[in-house]
Amino acid sequence: MSEQVKPAPGQPTPAQHTQGHPAQGQTARAQGGDLDLAQRYGDALLPVFGTPQKVLARGAGVHVWDTEGKQYLDLLAGIAVNALGHGHPALLAAIMKQAETLGHVSNFFASAPQIELAEKLLQLAEAPAGSGVFFANSGTEANEAAFKIARRTGRPRILALRNSFHGRTMGALALTWKEAYRAPFEPLPGGVEFLEVGDEAALAEALAPGDVAAVFAEPIQGEAGVRPLGTDYLQALRRLTREHGTLLILDEVQTGIGRTGHWFAHQAIEGLQPDVMTLAKGLGGGFPIGAVISYGPAVHDLLQPGQHGTTFGGNPLASAAALAVLGTILEDGLLEHVREVGAGFTRDVLALDHPLIEEVRGAGLLLGIGFRAPIAPQLATAALEAGFIVNAPDGTTLRIAPPLLITPAELDTFTAALPALLEAAAPEGEN
Ligand SMILES: *Cc1c(COP(=O)(O)O)cnc(C)c1O
Repeated sequence: MSEQVKPAPGQPTPAQHTQGHPAQGQTARAQGGDLDLAQRYGDALLPVFGTPQKVLARGAGVHVWDTEGKQYLDLLAGIAVNALGHGHPALLAAIMKQAETLGHVSNFFASAPQIELAEKLLQLAEAPAGSGVFFANSGTEANEAAFKIARRTGRPRILALRNSFHGRTMGALALTWKEAYRAPFEPLPGGVEFLEVGDEAALAEALAPGDVAAVFAEPIQGEAGVRPLGTDYLQALRRLTREHGTLLILDEVQTGIGRTGHWFAHQAIEGLQPDVMTLAKGLGGGFPIGAVISYGPAVHDLLQPGQHGTTFGGNPLASAAALAVLGTILEDGLLEHVREVGAGFTRDVLALDHPLIEEVRGAGLLLGIGFRAPIAPQLATAALEAGFIVNAPDGTTLRIAPPLLITPAELDTFTAALPALLEAAAPEGEN
C-alpha cells in the first residue's frame, strides 16, 4: 500500500475528487502528494468543520509543522488540549509502556491506571469522602453523564447560562446557548432554560420554586470568547443552588487541568466547591479522555448500576496518558508557571498600549485578547501566515491557550509580532 504515484510538488494529479468515490479504495490513496491533501479531505470527510486552514504533519514541544514544512508556534494547543505540548517524553513513555502492557479492557474489568487516575483526580479536586469519578472520552460525553445525574434528582428543570458551550451531543447541545447549533436538531431533551450571566435576581427567581435539578456553568466561558463569570456570580451560584437543593455542575472541560494556573478554575475562588465537575480537553494531553467528578455522598448514587456506561471510558491507555499529564504538571511546577507566564504575557500585551486592544480576559494560560473592532478573524489569519496558531472564538476576541509549558521568551515572539499583525488585519483608517 505504498504511495507510488506521488505528483511532483506544485503538480496536482488530475482531480479524481470530482468523480465521487473511486471504484478501488487504492485510487484515492495513490494520489499521495501533499498538495491535494486538502482536496482529499473535502472528498472524504463530512463538511461539518469547514475548510481546514492547513494540513499539519508533525509537532515537537510548542511547535507544529505543516505538510509544506512551515513551522508554527502553537498558541492554541489543539484548543486547550495539548497541555504538555507535542511529543512530550513523559506522555510518550506512559502511552508506549501502557500499550505494551494492556491497552484496553471492557468495563467488565478494572485496571490499575483507571483506579489510580480516579484517586488522583479526587485528591486534586479536594473532593470529600463519598465522592466518585466516571470516565468518558470527551467533554460532551462528560456533560451527558452530568445531565443524566441531574435528571436522576427527579426535578424537571435545568438551568444553563447564556453564551454557554457544553458540547454537540443532544444532551450537551440542549445546554448550549447558540441557537445555530441547537435549532437544526430540535426537539432536544427538554426542561433547559438559559439565564443571563451575572443576574443574581433572575437566578434566585428561577431557583425559588425548588424544582430545578441543576445549574450548569463554565467558570470561564471559553467558546464565548474567554469570558469569566466573575467571583461574585460564581459565589452566588454556589450559595443559591445550595439553598434550594439544586446541583451546581461546573463544566471545567476547557478551564481544568492547570489551564488557569489552578488544577481547576473554581479552586481560585474561596468556598466554591461544585456538586459535579466535568473534565476533558487537557486531561489526556491529546489522548481522548473525559471525566465526571461527583462530590460527596448526596450525589454519589444518583446514577444507579446499569444507568450509564461507555466502552472506552477510562481504558488503561487513556488513564495512563492522563496520569502522565497530571504527574508532569505536578513535578514541573506548571501551575505556578502558568500563573506567572500568563500574568506576564497579559502585562506585555496591555503594555503595547495599542489603540485596538481593549482588554485581556481570562486566567493563567486561557486568555482572550479583546479588541475594539471586529478584527479577530482577520488577525488570526494574519497570525497563521506569520507562523502563530491562535483562534478567534468571536469577532473581537483572539484566544490564546498554548501548551502549559510555554516559556515567556516563546510568548514574547508573538507579543512582538502583534502590532504588525494588527496593522495587516486592520490597516490604519480602515476601522
Ligand atoms: C470543548 C468543550 C466541550 C466539548 O468537549 P468535546 O470534547 O469537544 O466534546 C464542552 N464544554 C466546554 C466548556 C468546552 O470547552
